[in-house]
Amino acid sequence: MASPKRFIAGAVCPRCAEMDKIMMFTDDNDKQVRECVACGFTDAMSDEPDVQAAELETRVNKRKNEDDHTVQQVVFFKSGQDE
Ligand SMILES: [Zn+2]
Repeated sequence: MASPKRFIAGAVCPRCAEMDKIMMFTDDNDKQVRECVACGFTDAMSDEPDVQAAELETRVNKRKNEDDHTVQQVVFFKSGQDE
């Protein structure tokens, strides 16, 4: 059964720190697997695949501190310039 690979918007690779290079798909053992197309990093997650995948996609910015920090910096910088 083919499982489509989906990119996770805003996800940052834990190995190479590239953004938007992480794909998620389900492997033959029904495990959710993250794969980085930039460096080849893979990470299998076995627990409750559906819930974990959903949480990863919605909370990725909060879970990844560097990513959240970067976004906040940009917003702060822009509003500071406007006012
Ligand atoms: Zn990577």
